[in-house]
Order: sequence, then C-alpha cells, then structure tokens
Amino acid sequence: MQTHFTAEQLRDPGIASANQVLRTCVHCGFCTATCPTFVLLGDELDSPRGRIYLIKDMLESGRPATEEVVRHVDRCLSCLSCMTTCPSGVNYMHLVDHARTYIEQTYQRPWHDRALRAVLGLVLPRPALMRAALLGARLAKPFAGLLPKTGQLPLRLRALLRLAPASLPPASHLDRPQDHKPVGPRRGRVALLAGCAQTVLDPAINAATVRLLTRLGIEVVVAKGAGCCGALAHHMGKHDPAMDAARANIAAWCAEMDGGGLDAVIINTSGCGTTVKDYGYMFRNEAPDWADRAARVSAIAMDITEYLVRIGYTPTRAAPPLTVAYHAACSLQHGQKVTDAPKSLLRQAGFKVAEPAEGHLCCGSAGTYNMLQPEISSQLRARKLGNLHATGADLIAAGNIGCMTQLAGDTLPVVHTIELLDWMAGGPQPERLATLVTA
Ligand code: SF4
Ligand code: SF4
Repeated sequence: MQTHFTAEQLRDPGIASANQVLRTCVHCGFCTATCPTFVLLGDELDSPRGRIYLIKDMLESGRPATEEVVRHVDRCLSCLSCMTTCPSGVNYMHLVDHARTYIEQTYQRPWHDRALRAVLGLVLPRPALMRAALLGARLAKPFAGLLPKTGQLPLRLRALLRLAPASLPPASHLDRPQDHKPVGPRRGRVALLAGCAQTVLDPAINAATVRLLTRLGIEVVVAKGAGCCGALAHHMGKHDPAMDAARANIAAWCAEMDGGGLDAVIINTSGCGTTVKDYGYMFRNEAPDWADRAARVSAIAMDITEYLVRIGYTPTRAAPPLTVAYHAACSLQHGQKVTDAPKSLLRQAGFKVAEPAEGHLCCGSAGTYNMLQPEISSQLRARKLGNLHATGADLIAAGNIGCMTQLAGDTLPVVHTIELLDWMAGGPQPERLATLVTA
C-alpha cells in the first residue's frame, strides 16, 4: 500500500513503525473473511482492511481522530484473527495499538465513555479495588432488569452486572510475592505472572500452576513489584499507565534474572502473555537499558502450556471419561501462535478433546470489549457457545480468564486448561466439575 507521510511525520518513531506496517498491506482482503466484526456486521469499515484504510488516512492527515474512525476502531476486538490469515505478514496489532493511542490523545469521547474507561483503567489492574467493585456489583445485580434496554450507557452497565460473578473466592496467599520451592531436586526456576483481575476472579488457576510446576521440580517465583501486565490500559490507548505497569514487571523480573536466574516468565492468562511477549517492541524507543531489559523479558516469556511441553508432562492418574471442548483464546492462537500445546497436553492427560467449528472466531471477551461493546460481544458469545455445545463435550477448557468469564454462566462448566492438567497429575478436582464427576 502506498503511503504519503511527510519527512517530518516519519521522524516520529510511532508513525515510522505504522508506515512500515501500512506498506506491507497489499489490500488483498483475505483477512475480511476471518474478522469477527466483518462476519457479523458485513461492513468493509468493520473489517481489517477497512480499518487499515481509516487508520492510514487518520495518521497521514495528522488531524484529530473523527467519530467515524473511532467507531470502527473501537469495534475491533484486537483478536488478531486477521494476522493469522494475512499472507503478507501485516502486523495489524502494532498498527491498531498505535491508532488507539492516537485516538486517546486526539479525540474527546462523550463524558460517560470517558468516565467508564477511567473507572475500568483504575479498577481492573488493582485487585483490592476490583474486589470491592465486584462486591458492589453483586449487590446491584438484582436491579439490572430496571435498567433501560437501549442506549449505550445502560447496555454497558447491564454487561458489567452480567459479568460480575455471583460469588467471589477468597484471595490466595500463593499470589503474594514469594519463592515456591520445588518438590524434590530443582530442575528449573521460573517467574509466574500472578496477574491482577485473575487473582480476584479465579485464584485456583495460579494455585494449580504453582502446584503442578513445583511437583515437576520447578521453583516458582512470584516476584516482588510485579503486577498487572499493562494490557488493559494498552488496549484502551492509555500509553503511560500501560508503560508504567510494564516497567514495574520488567524491573521485577530482571532483578530475578540477575539474582537467582530465570528459565522463563510463565503466563497463564494468554491476553497478558501476548502483551509481555511484546514488551520488547513496546520499549524499542525507550532508553537503551530499558529497551534491552524489555527485550530480555519478552525473550523468555512463555505460556504455561509451551513451558509444560518443554519440560515434559506426565499424568499420574487415569482421566474420567470426559470430553473437553477446547476453546482457543484469540490471544493464544492468533497473538502467540500457541495452538497445539494445550490440546496435546489435554490428550496426554487422558481427556478426549473436541474442537468447535469456527474456532478462529473470538468469543467476544477481548479484555474490556465485553463491557464497552456489549451488543457485538453478546452476539459473539452466543455464537461461540452454540459451536461449543455442538461438539457434545462435557466441559470447556480455555487458557485465558477473560474468555472463561465471558463463557461462564452457561450449562457447560468452564475451567482453565492448567486445572485439568494439575488434576490428572495429583492435584485436586476443579470445583466447577463437582457435578460432573463425583470424586
Ligand atoms: S490480508 Fe493482509 S495484505 Fe491482505 S488486506 Fe488484509 S491485512 Fe492487507
Ligand atoms: S483484530 Fe480481529 S476484530 Fe480487529 S480487524 Fe483483526 S480480525 Fe477484525
């Protein structure tokens, strides 16, 4: 694609990177067929190619973002299905991330949109605030039906209340900074991203990860100073908070690398994993010491399933006769290109694995998308659940807390892949499967 940036515009490293991405697009349109918003809405401007044109015009003009550009970029899930499909290797992720930051800096959103984004940006990365907010949402949940059925703000509030779980598990002491010592001789040492929202919504995921890894002889460090990966702020175009969160993690993990040493930074929430693997790119224009340290962290960041394949996984008990519908989170399959590891591990554990039709399509979770774009999100959720049910499976496994929360509340129980692997290697049966299997 031809671009027309001025020499002065290209001196901005963000524009220079966007220009490189734009120039790789040959506008063939192959990506449109696998884009969830194009599939649902059928509008070229809600396809990757349409958005690429809109972003190109916006950046070339140098003018503030328009309402039209914001509407279509906001509808993008950042699911990255288009990147899997694109034959030219267009890095849509880096382009849309830059566009979101540009929009945040140049466009004045309506007050309620700004307010909701500010609240989400403040609350979600802070477990104590999130716990308090979810307790409040639980109290408000019975009154959700009183909200109007139309209008952006009521629909968003309804979505927030629907997503709030009916009960919250207590915080886990395992998520606090500490060294979890291996059982038996030490085979390796990793840092675990304990995360933010996940520690409130489902601490059983980190507990299963720590149990399984330590049983396999791996020392697991929850590093002091590490916290939210920054993805939630990053995807809302909030550049500074995202970089601050990433900087804290980079400092914490580099201290561990230079101290006790690390074989990997383990992430069990694939949305976060995609961002941590991108720290090297995010910090490419920062001071050289930060750019180097960010690249070191990204180089050893791994999804938990990638790491288990590397060190070897063996079940220690016979699996119950359950069929698991594997839901491939977009951030794992498209963002990180981790596709086979979770399924092959589940098969090794003894489960029958079913794959739903349209596995490439997003479930509508996408970070804060299900709260900010509830109509499209709920259509994608219904479509995904329909495909998952059609497999005839007994349960759903996924590797991302966002997808798990989005798909929860249906008749099929949803668990994290690691909970099933830990269970078959000596861990406890996941609580959500109590009605499926009597221990
Ligand atoms: S498939 Fe790739 S090259 Fe073709 S239009 Fe989409 S982004 Fe551009
Ligand atoms: S990231 Fe997903 S929603 Fe956005 S343009 Fe690409 S395929 Fe479509």
